[in-house]
Amino acid sequence: MRYISTRGGVEPIGFSEAVMMGLATDGGLLLPADFPVLNAATLKGWAGMGFSDLVVEVMLPYVEGDLSREELTDLVDRSYRGFSHSDITPVVRVGDMHILELFHGPTAAFKDVALQFLGNLFQLLLERDDGHLNILGATSGDTGSAAIYGVRGQKRIDIFILHPHDRVSTIQERQMTTVLDENVHNIAIEGTFDDGQRIVKALFNDLNFKREYSLGAVNSINWARILAQVVYYFYAWGRVSEGDVSKKVRFSVPTGNFGDIFAGYVAMRMGLPVEQLILATNRNDILTRFVTTGTYKARPVHHTISPSMDIQISSNFERYLYYLLDEDPGQVCGLMEQMAATGEMTVSGEKLKEVQHIFSAVAVSEKQTLEQIRETRAENDYILDPHTAVGVKASKPYPGAVCLATAHPAKFGDAVKKAIGIEAPPPVSLQGLMEKETRCQLLPADTQAVKRYMETTLGSSKK
Ligand SMILES: *Cc1c(COP(=O)(O)O)cnc(C)c1O
Repeated sequence: MRYISTRGGVEPIGFSEAVMMGLATDGGLLLPADFPVLNAATLKGWAGMGFSDLVVEVMLPYVEGDLSREELTDLVDRSYRGFSHSDITPVVRVGDMHILELFHGPTAAFKDVALQFLGNLFQLLLERDDGHLNILGATSGDTGSAAIYGVRGQKRIDIFILHPHDRVSTIQERQMTTVLDENVHNIAIEGTFDDGQRIVKALFNDLNFKREYSLGAVNSINWARILAQVVYYFYAWGRVSEGDVSKKVRFSVPTGNFGDIFAGYVAMRMGLPVEQLILATNRNDILTRFVTTGTYKARPVHHTISPSMDIQISSNFERYLYYLLDEDPGQVCGLMEQMAATGEMTVSGEKLKEVQHIFSAVAVSEKQTLEQIRETRAENDYILDPHTAVGVKASKPYPGAVCLATAHPAKFGDAVKKAIGIEAPPPVSLQGLMEKETRCQLLPADTQAVKRYMETTLGSSKK
């Protein structure tokens, strides 16, 4: 498979190059040049498969030319071995809906499904080139721990994750700092999340440093992450439809950066019988406003009880725009320029109808989120985390929908307690965190201090 950029400025490249590139060099996002489309017999055959086998089938055409079936199978086995449920991403019936539980990975959030795979994939590609990668990122909590667990112990990767000192939840801090592998470097910054982001940005812009130390990002825009997420849409459809290809399913997706729901769109383009994708947001509703009005316009971020969906603009949205604009990079560039110049862009007429045909968008308030957690507990004896609750609330008009459960409720104890008076029992991965040994470096919110720390830690051997 060849990969191209939404902005048209990248000569078609192979899968490995696309994975290592992350963000396209022309500032756009990478996409496969075309989608493999399945026939009904294949789809039916996939319906009964276990998750790991299905990963191989879904991914194979996308990695063709770069990974053999054997290599891919081995990667997949190693990536999903650490999940605590034998189905990896089980589908459970809760009242009149289906919950697709994506939180059985090592950090109890759905990002593990992609990042466990990406860590192993990076390691394999680096081995081929005899390379070393230094991942650098800032986190407000969730992505940092999933990225750390994705690459812990990998010999050709070091990871540096900045978090704001005393400003992430205790569980989140412990999830990161109790990882003692030599290649994991937690840095607590004496400042805010924005300070951390500013430092990371400054270091990536220090082009000599970036090149000398092969800096890479924990990219929410890496194609391999999207690809790993495509799989569970097929998996859930198989469980719900039992292979009846005439059965269309609605998926409700708690959305922030549009990565997860874009994976659903890819599945649909591949021929998965999807009725509609329900795009569920919290108060940070830029995407809901887009689907409803056609205008995409950033507003200041609100901090909510579903923090992983607190975004101003959605980094993966450009991928969908590319398809909406008839795969024409010129039009994508036009709208992105308009966005940069005026802070907004608009689609209308037939194009807006097309958006509304595929997506049904709902913004859910914090009050509604808490009410949903309460209602599902009372009616079905099932505890939702606040992100999942946003999706469940949005799915209410559509009984039978598959709701993606993106985090374990024990990870967001405060919100859950506020809703139902108790916390959810923690899964094994979250137990005993307070007793474990930790390692973390406290540093001032200063770019040079972080740079010196990285240089000292890496020495000359891991450049
Ligand atoms: C990241 C995240 C989301 C949002 O996913 P996107 O791919 O950014 O849309 C939703 N819920 C949880 C728990 C997350 O960690």
